[in-house]
Amino acid sequence: MAQNRKITLTEKEIPHQWYNIVADMPNKPLPPLHPGTGQPIGPEALAPLFPMALIQQEVTTDKWVDIPEEVRDVYTMWRPTPLYRARNLEKALDTPARIYYKYEGVSPSGSHKPNTAVPQAWYNKQEGVRRITTETGAGQWGSALSFACNLFGIDCEVYMVKISYQQKPYRKVMMQTWGAHVYASPTDLTEAGRKVLAQDPDSPGSLGIAISEAVERAAVDPDTKYALGSVLNHVLLHQTIIGQEALVQMEKAGDFPDVVIAPFGGGSNFAGIAFPFLRYKLEGKREVRCIAAEPASCPKLTRGVFRYDFGDTVGMTPLLPMYTLGHQFVPAPIHAGGLRYHGAGVIVSQLLKDGLIEASAHHQLEVFEAGVRFARAEGIIPAPEACHGIAAAIREANRCKEEGVSRTILFNLCGHGNFDMQAYDDYFAGKLVEHHLTDEDIAAALAKLDTPEIA
Ligand SMILES: *Cc1c(COP(=O)(O)O)cnc(C)c1O
Repeated sequence: MAQNRKITLTEKEIPHQWYNIVADMPNKPLPPLHPGTGQPIGPEALAPLFPMALIQQEVTTDKWVDIPEEVRDVYTMWRPTPLYRARNLEKALDTPARIYYKYEGVSPSGSHKPNTAVPQAWYNKQEGVRRITTETGAGQWGSALSFACNLFGIDCEVYMVKISYQQKPYRKVMMQTWGAHVYASPTDLTEAGRKVLAQDPDSPGSLGIAISEAVERAAVDPDTKYALGSVLNHVLLHQTIIGQEALVQMEKAGDFPDVVIAPFGGGSNFAGIAFPFLRYKLEGKREVRCIAAEPASCPKLTRGVFRYDFGDTVGMTPLLPMYTLGHQFVPAPIHAGGLRYHGAGVIVSQLLKDGLIEASAHHQLEVFEAGVRFARAEGIIPAPEACHGIAAAIREANRCKEEGVSRTILFNLCGHGNFDMQAYDDYFAGKLVEHHLTDEDIAAALAKLDTPEIA
């Protein structure tokens, strides 16, 4: 009998635990450093911004973390998510590879982000937090957090980069539909925003400015906390629900991936799908290659340095040991807004440094060609970010064809692109260009880094 195209699970089969890869890492992540003193900082430094439960998850070395029953119950609104065998794509590529994808676009906001927005909102609620602030660029994270806060009766305040607020109104309206307050940043509500506006009343804003505003709001109000949608350890932890489900689904399919692939912005959806499989490698049970697919115009993993750097562009956060292009690096304005981040999560960076995972870089035209090919074969129109993972999967499938071997490829389809039609329109109109970063460009960005080297 032919294998099912769609491999589903019941609600009962949703995993009860997140997987914490730190427990299995041969080299543990280095500590964050205080931006002023350069000394290692403890978890208590984060207390003004995050609830204690999330700070504990940030530093825990426990291998398994229980998913609270209430969170698991909310997950059932869209989880378990389907895993597909991409039979049509295999045929279109004429490859001997078996290709599977896990589809996270079935969540209410259309991406993997609610997997962490929901537990973050829930833990805040347990500790009596009344308001959560955050920043958002294109709006994927802001909409996920708005959805989650609404479920638990928490006020959500989103600082949206002004240029996106004006150019991408639909995600703003989604956030408002879920009851969030959305502000075009810079605003006159914060010291940070007023300072920018005094210098430039027409500032289009930036993610760095929006972060400053959201953090300031949380720092000055004891009832208000701040939330981040990627990079941090607890965010990566929550996302492992993706791979934990995929493990069970692959087992049902009678298969196990040789290669696991995901697009890479700060590392959360990559960690989410890859870490539960990478566990088998770290435990010495199975070989598996994990590939993080990044944009060639923001190549921190393939061309950056492993170094202490700030998490934000302004230089307010603790210093984190990570692959980075320097916090002042400004990537070209590609359509995959969610991947335009200068650095990478600390755990993922250490794994790359230790040769336990790989990275690949993709130009915008390869990325959209892959996305359109996928849409025509499998039907779903992928988010521009997700297209990076597809491009990497197609490269691997083509290698299988050249080598005449069949391998099993699993990738994460982290979101749909139904709000990204402008990007596809630009691609079809031939308006997308390849942004070629020279070694000089990268050296110039890295020369601005004045943070401590890693011995
Ligand atoms: C936010 C986002 C990303 C990038 O973030 P990661 O933390 O690297 O997963 C990728 N794809 C989509 C659809 C996103 O919303």
